[in-house]
Amino acid sequence: NLSGRLDAVFKKLKGHGKLTEKNIEEGLKEVRMALLEADVHYKVAKQFIAGVKDRALGQEVMKSLTPGQQVVKIVNDELTELMGSSHEALNLEGTKPVSVMMIGLQGAGKTTTAGKLAIYLRKKGEKPYLVPADVYRPAAIDQLKKLGQQLEIPVYPSETNMDPVDICRKAQVAAQKAGCNTLLIDTAGRLHIDEELMGELLRIRDVVKPSDILLIADAMTGQDAVNIAKSFDDALNIGGVILSKMDGDARGGAALSIKSITGKPIKFIGVGEKLNELEPFHPDRMASSILGMGDVLTLIEKAQSVVNEEQAVELEKKLKKNQFTLEDFRDQMVQIRKMGSLSDLLGMIPGMKKNKQFKNLEVDDREFIRIEAIINSMTPKERAQHTIINGSRRKRIAKGSGTKVQDVNQLLKNYTQVMKMVKKFNKGGMRGFGRGMLP
Ligand code: GDP
Ligand code: MG
Repeated sequence: NLSGRLDAVFKKLKGHGKLTEKNIEEGLKEVRMALLEADVHYKVAKQFIAGVKDRALGQEVMKSLTPGQQVVKIVNDELTELMGSSHEALNLEGTKPVSVMMIGLQGAGKTTTAGKLAIYLRKKGEKPYLVPADVYRPAAIDQLKKLGQQLEIPVYPSETNMDPVDICRKAQVAAQKAGCNTLLIDTAGRLHIDEELMGELLRIRDVVKPSDILLIADAMTGQDAVNIAKSFDDALNIGGVILSKMDGDARGGAALSIKSITGKPIKFIGVGEKLNELEPFHPDRMASSILGMGDVLTLIEKAQSVVNEEQAVELEKKLKKNQFTLEDFRDQMVQIRKMGSLSDLLGMIPGMKKNKQFKNLEVDDREFIRIEAIINSMTPKERAQHTIINGSRRKRIAKGSGTKVQDVNQLLKNYTQVMKMVKKFNKGGMRGFGRGMLP
């Protein structure tokens, strides 16, 4: 994935204070390749890269990030903007009962998704009502009736000789009588888009006046899904898209291009055949998974949210002057614990997994607590000047913290090891990573 390739770019960017056209260019070449490989429409990729470049040029590198990480952040921001930043819910506004139309080609997953949405809505306290309006295939009506029975959700008793528009009109009355507030209308599909299909969907739309029209598109069809979405949207002005079969080896490119080309959000994704396998779509998370940079982004987010800027400045000063005491070490431990386990954090830093020095630093949460206890048992003078901690002091500290002398020894060893690394980082590289990242 992209993260491995960006590793090399990171290395080159290390130590630069400002993003230049040249180093951005290099990073973006990799990003562009990755987008195309993820099946993103080339026009979308091109427009996207241009947007990132605009954003990135001349931007000062945030103090807490290396330039390489900053590029990733900008790419992610742009990607998120392109795809929308947060989950867009179903539109259920209007006089109850409201109707939601499920449209799409045959086999896209309309009927299954109607069942999935029914469960989803029921969990949210709504009262869904299923409407089979695909009268051309007898099995289609039965399929939804069975789903309803299984889920104990009422289904309109459609028959194959009824007119779909009529079904929908009558279903609205029936749903209200049944005390339901949301109709999920499962419409007919075709193998290909044709005028007859669109005509029927338009007639249904004009009668039921749906609060939302959801196109169900098969993610496995890649670029086709994008074209299908465009055609349906042009004809019916859809409210959003549900991408089904995202559990397959679809690479996410369709998701990115759909929003960009139709302007309509992806609201949910189907991630399996089972009826609970529907997930609200979070564009921001998708963005990072397309880039394969999820880990780095999570790390950046965590660093941004936890490390208070003032503290960070203070810490960096100390690190620079190598005045980072055991007390600071403890405070950093506490900070890091807020972010998660230390080994997790180290694992998120590109290249760190391979770094042998960090192997010895595997720290689990219980160890955090022990370390804190040990440092708390030291006198302020000991914390400020660890070299005075001799054998008898070690014994006393171990006793006071309920640990063994070996634990105290180990901690002091870790601390000196970290200090060595900090010194190395101070000389160059990993700029800013000391802040909040490393004890
Ligand atoms: P429709 O013709 O649009 O109503 O499509 P169906 O709902 O009948 O689904 C067609 C096939 O796709 C069925 O075999 C479903 O089980 C399957 N399917 C639907 N959604 C998903 C999904 O999210 N993941 C997977 N793996 N299969 C799905
Ligand atoms: Mg169906």
